[in-house]
Amino acid sequence: MIGCGPVGALTANLLGRHGVRTLVVERGTAPHRQPRAFSCDDEALRIYQLAGLRDEVAADMYAPTIVEYVGASARPFATIALDEIDFGLGAEPLHFFDQPILEEALRKGFDRFSHVELRTATELVELTQDADGVTVVLRDVDSGRHTTVRAGYALGCDGARSAIRVEAGIKLVGTSYAEPWLAVTADVPPEAVRVPETQFVCDWRRPGFVSPGAIGTHRFEFMLQDGESVDEMTSPETIDRLAARFVDPARMRVTRAVVYTFHHVVAERWRDGRVFLLGDAAHQMPPFLGQGLCSGLRDAANLTWKLAMVIQGHGSDALLDTYETERRPHTEEMATTSVRLGRVFLVRKRWAAALRDAALRTIQTIPRVRRFVRHFEFKPLPTLRAGFLAGGVRKGPVGVMFPQPFVTVDGSRRLLDDVLGTGFALVGPDVSAQTAATWSGPPATFVRVLKPGASPAGGEVVEVGDPDGLLKAWFDRNRVGMVVLRPDRFVYGTDPGYTAIE
Ligand SMILES: Cc1cc2nc3c(=O)[nH]c(=O)nc-3n(C[C@H](O)[C@H](O)[C@H](O)COP(=O)(O)OP(=O)(O)OC[C@H]3O[C@@H](n4cnc5c(N)ncnc54)[C@H](O)[C@@H]3O)c2cc1C
Repeated sequence: MIGCGPVGALTANLLGRHGVRTLVVERGTAPHRQPRAFSCDDEALRIYQLAGLRDEVAADMYAPTIVEYVGASARPFATIALDEIDFGLGAEPLHFFDQPILEEALRKGFDRFSHVELRTATELVELTQDADGVTVVLRDVDSGRHTTVRAGYALGCDGARSAIRVEAGIKLVGTSYAEPWLAVTADVPPEAVRVPETQFVCDWRRPGFVSPGAIGTHRFEFMLQDGESVDEMTSPETIDRLAARFVDPARMRVTRAVVYTFHHVVAERWRDGRVFLLGDAAHQMPPFLGQGLCSGLRDAANLTWKLAMVIQGHGSDALLDTYETERRPHTEEMATTSVRLGRVFLVRKRWAAALRDAALRTIQTIPRVRRFVRHFEFKPLPTLRAGFLAGGVRKGPVGVMFPQPFVTVDGSRRLLDDVLGTGFALVGPDVSAQTAATWSGPPATFVRVLKPGASPAGGEVVEVGDPDGLLKAWFDRNRVGMVVLRPDRFVYGTDPGYTAIE
């Protein structure tokens, strides 16, 4: 695996959990000190949980309760009420984190596996592949010495300028945005905060994003205007002036100030034989939905168990083709939604901004529209349209992400995924010892959701209580008695049938 940014580090942890021998090659010597990504969602927390690291990474996160879109007058014209939203995945819908702390926790996760090795200060310089595997030439950054490594597969988690993508001859398709942005991270004590809400500042004169973050940090992002230079914008005077509406600049300590431009690009292929691209190496999107990193984490959650199945003899090579089939449409939908939000957010004419603010306020007097905005219903759902699903395509609950409520096991309350393990799982009120005995798929966990008064299933079936009735409601709504869940917690099928891809 090449690259140990957040996506690479998560990927290696997931491969470790699935028992795959993994070498992680990273050019840098220490985790990234640059807090670039700032937010993650409930799906991301679920994926960290799959890697067995949710408590470790969530410990320092901050979950905001509200996101406001404010116009030039600083009055909100739209609000996302995060504290009113529960997408059912076992976590709040939005979290802010500190990237260096996150990366450190992920790297510490490697200590759990003797079969995961991290080699820092080492970079990929060449890659070739044949029918049986890949050969990579690595360069020790300090000594310049070259070594050759042979592996079954190569995963490119090496970021936006991916060397592995270049070596595989894969092009990026898309556009880059012309407008540069100033991104500032600062330490701000609570008493110095003037605006505690997370705000998209849709001011036609200078759009921006401002929010408190994890561990007493604050994030400010402001679009540059024509003619403004990097030196001028990153100067303490400019940052103090721009931040003053939101915090007391005298008590703020800036830890990072950079100017960057963002991109909306996707690799034309995510697989080339035994080479796969994940994270920024495969796709980059504008940050208005905070989904850049989250999309990379989803890539890792999708590909790693498939790779493990193929390596461990439970699946054929064709299973690996479903990685791009499943992930590309969702990523493109996220990117498109992010671009659309940007269009609303980045209006640069006074009259157009006034019209937007008024139109959005008016249209939200319709309760359905207000709910659509307030409850973040414009965020694309975690759903697979086609791929490794019973029947091949989405149908009913097949292809949706299964909810993650609390369950009880032997009287203790636990999140469902912690009971399901890392592989396939058959879950539902109809799961029985017979289900386990006749299951023909890869190794799985069998979980029966107890109905009041039901007698024990026996055998290897785990019995769980449904204290909040959420599982019962889900099974009733979907009119099924069990589901087959894939290791990434998408619904594969609704009966115990299983068909391997040939
Ligand atoms: C200002 C900004 C704000 C953002 N905000 C958000 C946000 O709020 N939410 C969100 O989800 N995303 C956000 N993103 C996007 C997010 O930062 C990226 O999607 C994420 O960092 C990508 O992670 P990655 O692991 O794929 O790549 P990277 O973080 O770029 O990691 C790639 C790693 O590969 C290593 N590497 C590269 N080449 C080689 C080589 N040849 N050999 C060995 N190692 C190599 C690098 O040293 C690096 O460690 C933001 C991005 C920016 C720029």
